[in-house]
Amino acid sequence: MKYMHIHTLGCRLNQAESDVMLQKLYELGYEITSGEHPADLCIIHTCAVTHEAEVKCRKVIRHTIRQNPNAEIVVIGCYVEKDIETLKNIPGIDLIVDNKRKMDWLPYIKGAKQKTLSILTGTTWELHSIRHCPSTKPITIPGFHRANIKIQEGCDCYCSYCIIPYLRGPSRSRDINDILQEISWRIQAGVKEIVLTGVNIGNYNFEGENLITLLDRIYEQFGNKARIRLSSIEINSLNEDFLIRMKDNDYPLVPYLHIPLQSGSNTILKKMNRQYEREFYRDFVLQTVDTVPDIGISTDVLVGFPGETPLLFDETLKFLENLPLFFMHIFPFSPREGTPAYSFPEQVPNLEIDRRVDLLIELSKRKRKIFYEKSQNTVRPVLFEEKENEHWQGYTDNYIRVLSRNPECLENKLCHVRLENIFIDHMNGTVLNIIN
Ligand code: SF4
Repeated sequence: MKYMHIHTLGCRLNQAESDVMLQKLYELGYEITSGEHPADLCIIHTCAVTHEAEVKCRKVIRHTIRQNPNAEIVVIGCYVEKDIETLKNIPGIDLIVDNKRKMDWLPYIKGAKQKTLSILTGTTWELHSIRHCPSTKPITIPGFHRANIKIQEGCDCYCSYCIIPYLRGPSRSRDINDILQEISWRIQAGVKEIVLTGVNIGNYNFEGENLITLLDRIYEQFGNKARIRLSSIEINSLNEDFLIRMKDNDYPLVPYLHIPLQSGSNTILKKMNRQYEREFYRDFVLQTVDTVPDIGISTDVLVGFPGETPLLFDETLKFLENLPLFFMHIFPFSPREGTPAYSFPEQVPNLEIDRRVDLLIELSKRKRKIFYEKSQNTVRPVLFEEKENEHWQGYTDNYIRVLSRNPECLENKLCHVRLENIFIDHMNGTVLNIIN
């Protein structure tokens, strides 16, 4: 028996790709180890979205090499695209793979520690499809109840602060038949929630099929066998068609949206090269809450973008205070070499960025509490995933983390739960009945 360990950093898209790799490695005879057996193969799936992410990647790589001196070490993903030279100088790595070869490196593993470093890089992005990411029949891996399914790759937006289009290439959409096939296999393997994932999923377009027609095809084929969640989606890809579907109780699309805002100041949005104004964002969020009252909406905010004066930051703060959001991910701006914003004038001092981040984190906590209070004593469907300190843990359809004490095994069970006590990042609830 051979053992593997995979460490995935970064976004849900990386997670979806890691899942595909794990399945393929299963077919090659590898089992996952979480430390109980020494690993023969360690994969570090990297992220380079911020400077901090890069630091973390290097730390994880060095730690993995130290802990697994005899394992074959493979480093793949965005950090390879961003800074392969640094990686070449870290002793102990056996194989480095960039994003262009991300899905075809398995034949290159040797099954044992190597004396020399191998490097696998591509020259061009596959432009029109993601045919390098075909479906693999999933093997039931314990603990996989929510499946991230990659539907799209790359981005054409070129927001002025973002390195992603340079690391993952232009927008390409995966063959719809491949996606449906993978969903079918996942449902057969017992998965009860599908998360449609990509860099910019609103851009999905495969031979005339867009994200809405993809959702309808999933519904036609699988009905309510699994609930469907969208990963992050840009505001200008959304419209009423999504809301109508979320509102329909028979339709499997859950009432949850993560819509990155980044700034509540039109001056800053323009400098960021975001393709909307704050009024457009606000109007859609208000329309959404009006149409789907229980919806959970979260967002990303980038703080301290060059030129964000205290006055412009206040615009963002006030704008967010008045929006019915559930929670916010707050990112301090860090200049990424290779992006236009790297050399923008009027960079904001780090101490001031930290102050603004703290204010927004505080606001996010208040918003979460308001959302929890609104949900208190209501009944929602919760998909339980695992047991944590005597409590079963899962998420509602609108993405509230729920803990419940229950003598029965609730792993991978969808249940009606009455939401009761409020805690900082979750609610407690009582299971009323098991749906399936
Ligand atoms: S939409 Fe903008 S922020 Fe998002 S991946 Fe594309 S370029 Fe980056």
